[in-house]
Amino acid sequence: MVDLHSHTDASDGSDTPSELIDNALRAGVTALSITDHDTFAGYNAAKPYADEKGLDLLCGIELSTKYQGQTVHLLGYFPGAAPAEAFTTWLVVLQERRRERNFRLVENLRKVNVKITMEEVEALGKTMAGRPHFAKILMKKGYVKTMQEAFDKYLAEHGRAFTEREEVPLEEGIKRMREAGGIPVIAHPVRLGRRTAAEEAEWIETAKEMGMLGLEVRHSDHDAAAVARYTALATRLGLLTTGGSDYHGTYKPDIKLGTGKFGNVSVPMEWVDRLRA
Ligand code: AMP
Ligand code: FE
Ligand code: FE
Ligand code: ZN
Repeated sequence: MVDLHSHTDASDGSDTPSELIDNALRAGVTALSITDHDTFAGYNAAKPYADEKGLDLLCGIELSTKYQGQTVHLLGYFPGAAPAEAFTTWLVVLQERRRERNFRLVENLRKVNVKITMEEVEALGKTMAGRPHFAKILMKKGYVKTMQEAFDKYLAEHGRAFTEREEVPLEEGIKRMREAGGIPVIAHPVRLGRRTAAEEAEWIETAKEMGMLGLEVRHSDHDAAAVARYTALATRLGLLTTGGSDYHGTYKPDIKLGTGKFGNVSVPMEWVDRLRA
Protein backbone atom coordinates (compact mmCIF):
# COMPACT_ATOMS: atom_id res chain seq x y z
CA MET A 1 0.00 0.00 0.00
CA VAL A 2 1.19 3.51 -0.86
CA ASP A 3 0.41 6.87 0.79
CA LEU A 4 2.05 10.04 -0.52
CA HIS A 5 0.34 12.61 1.73
CA SER A 6 0.59 12.57 5.53
CA HIS A 7 1.31 14.87 8.46
CA THR A 8 3.19 14.48 11.76
CA ASP A 9 3.13 16.65 14.86
CA ALA A 10 5.97 18.64 13.33
CA SER A 11 3.08 20.42 11.58
CA ASP A 12 -0.63 19.81 12.18
CA GLY A 13 -0.84 16.04 12.55
CA SER A 14 -1.18 14.37 15.96
CA ASP A 15 1.33 11.49 15.54
CA THR A 16 4.97 11.94 16.40
CA PRO A 17 7.22 10.94 13.48
CA SER A 18 7.89 7.48 14.91
CA GLU A 19 4.21 6.95 15.79
CA LEU A 20 3.35 7.76 12.18
CA ILE A 21 5.83 5.14 10.93
CA ASP A 22 4.42 2.56 13.35
CA ASN A 23 0.84 3.38 12.35
CA ALA A 24 1.71 3.22 8.65
CA LEU A 25 3.29 -0.21 9.03
CA ARG A 26 0.31 -1.41 11.06
CA ALA A 27 -2.04 -0.20 8.30
CA GLY A 28 -0.04 -2.12 5.69
CA VAL A 29 1.63 0.89 4.07
CA THR A 30 4.98 0.02 2.49
CA ALA A 31 5.77 3.35 0.77
CA LEU A 32 4.96 6.61 2.57
CA SER A 33 5.65 10.29 2.12
CA ILE A 34 5.56 12.76 5.01
CA THR A 35 4.31 16.06 3.62
CA ASP A 36 4.22 18.36 6.64
CA HIS A 37 3.24 22.00 6.16
CA ASP A 38 6.33 24.18 5.64
CA THR A 39 8.84 21.86 7.36
CA PHE A 40 11.03 18.79 6.87
CA ALA A 41 11.46 18.30 10.63
CA GLY A 42 9.00 15.39 10.80
CA TYR A 43 10.53 13.66 7.79
CA ASN A 44 14.08 14.14 9.09
CA ALA A 45 13.13 12.72 12.49
CA ALA A 46 11.28 9.74 10.96
CA LYS A 47 13.81 8.76 8.30
CA PRO A 48 16.30 6.72 10.41
CA TYR A 49 13.41 4.92 12.15
CA ALA A 50 11.69 4.15 8.83
CA ASP A 51 14.96 2.75 7.43
CA GLU A 52 15.37 0.58 10.50
CA LYS A 53 11.80 -0.73 10.14
CA GLY A 54 12.07 -1.27 6.38
CA LEU A 55 9.45 1.32 5.40
CA ASP A 56 10.14 3.15 2.14
CA LEU A 57 9.89 6.83 3.22
CA LEU A 58 9.87 9.58 0.60
CA CYS A 59 10.82 13.17 1.45
CA GLY A 60 7.94 15.60 0.92
CA ILE A 61 6.44 18.93 1.96
CA GLU A 62 3.20 20.91 1.60
CA LEU A 63 3.38 24.68 1.12
CA SER A 64 0.50 27.14 1.36
CA THR A 65 0.73 29.50 -1.58
CA LYS A 66 -1.42 32.27 -2.98
CA TYR A 67 -2.79 32.59 -6.49
CA GLN A 68 -5.32 35.29 -7.42
CA GLY A 69 -6.31 35.79 -3.80
CA GLN A 70 -6.90 32.10 -3.18
CA THR A 71 -4.86 29.72 -1.02
CA VAL A 72 -3.39 26.89 -3.07
CA HIS A 73 -1.67 23.96 -1.39
CA LEU A 74 1.44 22.88 -3.19
CA LEU A 75 2.97 19.47 -2.52
CA GLY A 76 6.65 18.91 -3.20
CA TYR A 77 8.46 15.59 -3.48
CA PHE A 78 12.21 15.18 -3.21
CA PRO A 79 12.83 11.58 -4.28
CA GLY A 80 16.52 12.08 -5.13
CA ALA A 81 19.04 14.12 -3.21
CA ALA A 82 18.12 16.09 -0.08
CA PRO A 83 16.47 19.48 -0.77
CA ALA A 84 18.97 22.24 -1.52
CA GLU A 85 19.99 24.29 1.51
CA ALA A 86 18.66 27.55 0.07
CA PHE A 87 15.19 26.01 0.23
CA THR A 88 15.40 24.86 3.85
CA THR A 89 16.74 28.30 4.85
CA TRP A 90 13.79 29.90 3.09
CA LEU A 91 11.41 27.64 5.03
CA VAL A 92 12.67 29.26 8.23
CA VAL A 93 11.45 32.63 6.90
CA LEU A 94 8.00 31.10 6.29
CA GLN A 95 7.99 29.72 9.84
CA GLU A 96 8.81 33.16 11.25
CA ARG A 97 5.93 34.69 9.27
CA ARG A 98 3.57 32.05 10.63
CA ARG A 99 4.67 32.76 14.21
CA GLU A 100 4.17 36.49 13.69
CA ARG A 101 0.63 35.77 12.39
CA ASN A 102 -0.02 33.62 15.46
CA PHE A 103 0.82 36.53 17.78
CA ARG A 104 -1.68 38.70 15.89
CA LEU A 105 -4.28 35.93 15.96
CA VAL A 106 -3.94 35.64 19.76
CA GLU A 107 -4.50 39.42 19.97
CA ASN A 108 -7.54 39.28 17.71
CA LEU A 109 -9.07 36.42 19.69
CA ARG A 110 -8.55 38.33 22.94
CA LYS A 111 -10.36 41.29 21.38
CA VAL A 112 -13.45 39.12 20.97
CA ASN A 113 -13.16 37.91 24.58
CA VAL A 114 -11.48 34.58 23.97
CA LYS A 115 -8.88 33.95 26.66
CA ILE A 116 -5.89 32.39 24.98
CA THR A 117 -2.13 32.86 25.20
CA MET A 118 0.79 32.23 22.84
CA GLU A 119 2.27 29.89 25.47
CA GLU A 120 -0.78 27.62 25.23
CA VAL A 121 -0.64 27.66 21.43
CA GLU A 122 3.06 26.84 21.28
CA ALA A 123 2.80 24.18 23.96
CA LEU A 124 0.50 22.35 21.55
CA GLY A 125 1.88 23.28 18.15
CA LYS A 126 5.53 23.88 18.99
CA THR A 127 7.43 25.71 16.24
CA MET A 128 4.79 24.99 13.59
CA ALA A 129 1.67 26.05 15.48
CA GLY A 130 -1.22 26.76 13.13
CA ARG A 131 -4.93 27.37 13.17
CA PRO A 132 -5.83 23.71 13.87
CA HIS A 133 -3.97 24.07 17.19
CA PHE A 134 -5.93 27.23 17.97
CA ALA A 135 -9.12 25.33 17.13
CA LYS A 136 -8.22 22.53 19.52
CA ILE A 137 -7.61 25.01 22.36
CA LEU A 138 -10.93 26.81 21.69
CA MET A 139 -12.64 23.44 21.88
CA LYS A 140 -10.86 22.38 25.06
CA LYS A 141 -11.80 25.68 26.71
CA GLY A 142 -15.45 25.29 25.75
CA TYR A 143 -15.73 28.24 23.36
CA VAL A 144 -16.84 25.84 20.61
CA LYS A 145 -17.94 22.23 20.40
CA THR A 146 -16.04 21.11 17.30
CA MET A 147 -12.90 22.03 15.38
CA GLN A 148 -15.07 23.04 12.43
CA GLU A 149 -17.10 25.39 14.63
CA ALA A 150 -13.84 27.01 15.77
CA PHE A 151 -12.99 27.74 12.13
CA ASP A 152 -16.47 28.90 11.18
CA LYS A 153 -16.90 31.18 14.19
CA TYR A 154 -13.40 32.48 14.76
CA LEU A 155 -10.56 31.32 12.54
CA ALA A 156 -11.70 30.99 8.93
CA GLU A 157 -11.82 33.85 6.46
CA HIS A 158 -15.23 35.02 7.66
CA GLY A 159 -14.57 34.23 11.31
CA ARG A 160 -14.56 36.90 14.04
CA ALA A 161 -10.81 36.76 14.61
CA PHE A 162 -9.58 35.90 11.11
CA THR A 163 -5.97 36.92 10.73
CA GLU A 164 -4.23 36.94 7.39
CA ARG A 165 -0.91 35.18 6.92
CA GLU A 166 1.40 36.40 4.24
CA GLU A 167 1.60 33.52 1.79
CA VAL A 168 4.08 32.82 -0.98
CA PRO A 169 2.92 33.43 -4.55
CA LEU A 170 2.23 30.05 -6.23
CA GLU A 171 4.74 30.74 -8.98
CA GLU A 172 7.50 31.47 -6.46
CA GLY A 173 6.73 28.26 -4.55
CA ILE A 174 6.96 26.20 -7.74
CA LYS A 175 10.18 27.88 -8.79
CA ARG A 176 11.90 27.48 -5.42
CA MET A 177 10.87 23.83 -5.22
CA ARG A 178 12.24 23.01 -8.65
CA GLU A 179 15.49 24.88 -7.97
CA ALA A 180 15.86 22.75 -4.83
CA GLY A 181 15.42 19.51 -6.79
CA GLY A 182 11.77 19.01 -5.89
CA ILE A 183 8.74 17.95 -7.92
CA PRO A 184 5.83 20.40 -7.44
CA VAL A 185 2.35 18.84 -7.41
CA ILE A 186 -1.06 20.51 -7.03
CA ALA A 187 -2.57 19.19 -3.77
CA HIS A 188 -6.24 18.14 -3.52
CA PRO A 189 -7.37 20.13 -6.60
CA VAL A 190 -11.00 19.59 -5.66
CA ARG A 191 -10.55 22.20 -2.92
CA LEU A 192 -9.80 24.89 -5.49
CA GLY A 193 -13.55 25.00 -5.90
CA ARG A 194 -13.69 25.81 -9.61
CA ARG A 195 -17.30 25.99 -10.76
CA THR A 196 -16.97 24.02 -13.96
CA ALA A 197 -14.66 21.27 -15.20
CA ALA A 198 -13.56 23.58 -18.02
CA GLU A 199 -12.51 26.34 -15.59
CA GLU A 200 -10.70 23.79 -13.50
CA ALA A 201 -8.84 22.38 -16.50
CA GLU A 202 -7.86 25.88 -17.58
CA TRP A 203 -6.53 26.64 -14.09
CA ILE A 204 -4.45 23.47 -14.01
CA GLU A 205 -3.06 24.27 -17.45
CA THR A 206 -1.98 27.68 -16.19
CA ALA A 207 -0.26 26.00 -13.22
CA LYS A 208 1.54 23.73 -15.66
CA GLU A 209 2.81 26.75 -17.56
CA MET A 210 4.25 28.00 -14.26
CA GLY A 211 6.26 24.79 -13.96
CA MET A 212 3.89 22.46 -12.12
CA LEU A 213 4.87 18.83 -12.74
CA GLY A 214 2.13 16.79 -11.10
CA LEU A 215 -1.47 16.54 -9.96
CA GLU A 216 -2.75 14.85 -6.80
CA VAL A 217 -5.36 12.63 -8.41
CA ARG A 218 -6.32 10.49 -5.42
CA HIS A 219 -7.16 12.12 -2.09
CA SER A 220 -9.61 11.62 0.79
CA ASP A 221 -11.71 14.52 -0.55
CA HIS A 222 -11.91 13.09 -4.09
CA ASP A 223 -14.90 10.99 -5.09
CA ALA A 224 -14.84 8.62 -8.07
CA ALA A 225 -15.93 11.36 -10.50
CA ALA A 226 -13.12 13.65 -9.35
CA VAL A 227 -10.55 10.86 -9.67
CA ALA A 228 -11.71 10.14 -13.22
CA ARG A 229 -11.60 13.84 -14.13
CA TYR A 230 -8.09 14.37 -12.73
CA THR A 231 -6.75 11.16 -14.26
CA ALA A 232 -7.91 12.28 -17.70
CA LEU A 233 -6.54 15.78 -17.16
CA ALA A 234 -3.14 14.54 -15.99
CA THR A 235 -2.90 12.29 -19.03
CA ARG A 236 -3.90 15.05 -21.42
CA LEU A 237 -1.46 17.58 -19.93
CA GLY A 238 1.37 15.11 -19.33
CA LEU A 239 1.43 15.68 -15.56
CA LEU A 240 2.67 13.12 -13.04
CA THR A 241 -0.07 11.57 -10.93
CA THR A 242 0.15 11.26 -7.14
CA GLY A 243 -2.19 10.39 -4.32
CA GLY A 244 -2.49 10.09 -0.59
CA SER A 245 -4.83 10.13 2.36
CA ASP A 246 -3.80 13.52 3.89
CA TYR A 247 -3.69 11.74 7.25
CA HIS A 248 -3.59 14.10 10.29
CA GLY A 249 -4.05 11.48 13.05
CA THR A 250 -6.69 12.34 15.65
CA TYR A 251 -7.18 15.82 14.17
CA LYS A 252 -9.04 14.20 11.25
CA PRO A 253 -10.16 10.87 12.69
CA ASP A 254 -12.12 9.72 9.60
CA ILE A 255 -8.98 9.65 7.50
CA LYS A 256 -6.99 6.41 7.54
CA LEU A 257 -3.40 5.93 6.38
CA GLY A 258 -3.19 4.31 2.96
CA THR A 259 -6.94 4.12 2.38
CA GLY A 260 -8.33 7.60 3.12
CA LYS A 261 -11.99 8.10 3.99
CA PHE A 262 -14.04 4.91 3.87
CA GLY A 263 -11.44 3.35 1.59
CA ASN A 264 -11.64 5.98 -1.14
CA VAL A 265 -7.89 6.25 -1.68
CA SER A 266 -5.60 3.71 -3.34
CA VAL A 267 -2.31 4.64 -4.93
CA PRO A 268 -0.43 2.37 -7.32
CA MET A 269 3.28 1.78 -6.67
CA GLU A 270 3.98 2.71 -10.32
CA TRP A 271 3.18 6.32 -9.45
CA VAL A 272 6.00 6.31 -6.91
CA ASP A 273 8.35 4.71 -9.43
CA ARG A 274 7.49 7.41 -11.96
CA LEU A 275 8.14 10.19 -9.41
CA ARG A 276 11.56 8.70 -8.85
CA ALA A 277 12.39 8.22 -12.53
P1 AMP B 1 -2.66 27.81 9.02
O1 AMP B 1 -1.61 27.26 8.11
O2 AMP B 1 -2.19 27.95 10.43
O3 AMP B 1 -3.29 29.05 8.51
O4 AMP B 1 -3.81 26.68 9.10
C1 AMP B 1 -4.25 26.10 7.92
C2 AMP B 1 -4.92 24.78 8.23
O5 AMP B 1 -6.15 25.02 8.91
C3 AMP B 1 -5.30 24.01 6.98
O6 AMP B 1 -4.28 23.12 6.57
C4 AMP B 1 -6.53 23.24 7.42
O7 AMP B 1 -6.16 22.02 8.05
C5 AMP B 1 -7.17 24.15 8.44
N1 AMP B 1 -8.27 24.99 7.88
C6 AMP B 1 -8.13 26.14 7.18
N2 AMP B 1 -9.33 26.67 6.87
C7 AMP B 1 -10.26 25.83 7.38
C8 AMP B 1 -11.71 25.81 7.39
N3 AMP B 1 -12.43 26.79 6.82
N4 AMP B 1 -12.31 24.77 8.01
C9 AMP B 1 -11.59 23.80 8.60
N5 AMP B 1 -10.25 23.76 8.62
C10 AMP B 1 -9.58 24.74 8.02
FE1 FE C 1 -2.95 20.18 7.36
FE1 FE D 1 -3.57 20.61 2.07
ZN1 ZN E 1 -1.93 17.89 3.74
